[in-house]
Amino acid sequence: MSGKTRLLSESVIREMTRLSDRHGAINLSQGFPDFPAPARVKRAAVRAIEADFNQYAVTWGSPNLRRAIAEKAAWFNGIHCEPDKNITVTCGSTEALMASVMAIADRGDEVILLEPAYENYKPSVILAGGTPVPVPLGESFSVDEERLKSAFNGRTKLILVNTPHNPSGKVFGKKELGLIADLCEDYGAVAITDEIYEHILYDGRSHISLATLGDMAERTVTISGISKTYTATGWRVGYAIADETLTKALRKVHDFMTVCAPAPLQEAAAVALRSQKSFYIKLAETYQKKRDYISSQLKDIGFEFFRPEGSYYILADFGGLSSKDDRKFAYSMTVDCGVAVVPGSSFYSDPKLGRKQVRFSYSKKDSTLRKAAAKMKAFFG
Ligand code: PLP
Repeated sequence: MSGKTRLLSESVIREMTRLSDRHGAINLSQGFPDFPAPARVKRAAVRAIEADFNQYAVTWGSPNLRRAIAEKAAWFNGIHCEPDKNITVTCGSTEALMASVMAIADRGDEVILLEPAYENYKPSVILAGGTPVPVPLGESFSVDEERLKSAFNGRTKLILVNTPHNPSGKVFGKKELGLIADLCEDYGAVAITDEIYEHILYDGRSHISLATLGDMAERTVTISGISKTYTATGWRVGYAIADETLTKALRKVHDFMTVCAPAPLQEAAAVALRSQKSFYIKLAETYQKKRDYISSQLKDIGFEFFRPEGSYYILADFGGLSSKDDRKFAYSMTVDCGVAVVPGSSFYSDPKLGRKQVRFSYSKKDSTLRKAAAKMKAFFG
C-alpha cells in the first residue's frame, strides 16, 4: 500500500449507500436521483449504440459533444470557449477534478479547500501529492474573508470552489467569488470550480461562473457534467473548460488515466446539453418544491439547518434530537429508522466540526421523500 493511499479512508458517502442497501433503508445519503433520466436523452444513447459509436471516442471528447458544451457554456455560463482548445470531456466531473488537480499541483503545493466540502476533494489533492489546506466557511456557509486571506500564501497553487454547494446548499454570490478571484490573481493561484449543480438554484437566484469574473478565465478550470442535471450519474460524462495551457496539461493526465469517456454516452450527452431552456426552468422548479417539502418535514422533526439556495442537499444539525455523534446517529438513522443519511464529519478535515451534523439528499421522487418523512416522524416521535 502506498503512502498516499494510507492517508485515505474509504468514501463514507458510498459506504452509506451500501449500508442502506443491506438494510433496505430509503437512501437519502448519496446524491443520485431515484427517478428516470429524460426519455429523449435515453433514446439518444440507444441510437448512438445502434449507430456504432462503440469504439474509443477522441480522447478530449467527441467533437459533437465539445461543440454542445461550447454552445451551452456561452449561453448559460457566459464563458466563450473553443471546442478544440479549451474543452476536455472526462469520466464524470470527478475525473475532471482529479485530472485538473494532478495537472496543476506539484508535490508540496498548497491547495485550499473551503469546508465543509464534497468528500472527493481532499483525496484528489492527496493523490496528486499536494497539501490540502482546509478553510472553514463562516456563518451561513459564506466565505470567511479573514480566514481565506490568511490561508493564501506564496505556496498556494490552487483553490477548489463549489457552487451551488454540496453539502450545504449555499450559492456563492459575486462578492464572495470576487474575493476568491482577487486572491487568486494576487497570489498567482488557479481556481478549480465545480459547478455540477449549476442548474439547480432556488428563489430566482442565478448561477455565477467564477471564470467570468475579471481575468479569471485564464486561471480557472470550470467543471461540470451531465450527472445531476440529466439524472444520469451512472453514465460518467463530465467536462473541464480551461484556457489552452491548462487544457493541454489536464488533457495529458486525462489521456493516460482513462483515454476517453464512454463514447455512445457522449453523443447522448450532446443531445442532453442542447435541451430547451424550459427544461432547466422546470428542473429548478421541481427541486425547489422538493426542498420546500423536505425542509418543512425536517424542521417539524427537530432538525436545524441552513435553507438550501441551490443543489439538492441539507446539512442538518441533530443536536436537539440525539446525544450520539454523527456516525452513530447516521448508522441508527439507516438501520433503526430506515432512512440513510451521511455523517457530517465526512465533509470536514476536522471531524469535530461535523459531529452533530448529517446530510440529507432530496434528489428523490416525491413519494420517496414522503415515505422517508413518515419513517422519521414515527422514529423520532
Ligand atoms: N461534485 C460534487 C460537488 C458532487 O456533489 C458530486 C456528486 O455527488 C460530483 C462532483 C460527482 O459528479 P460526477 O458524477 O460528474 O462525477
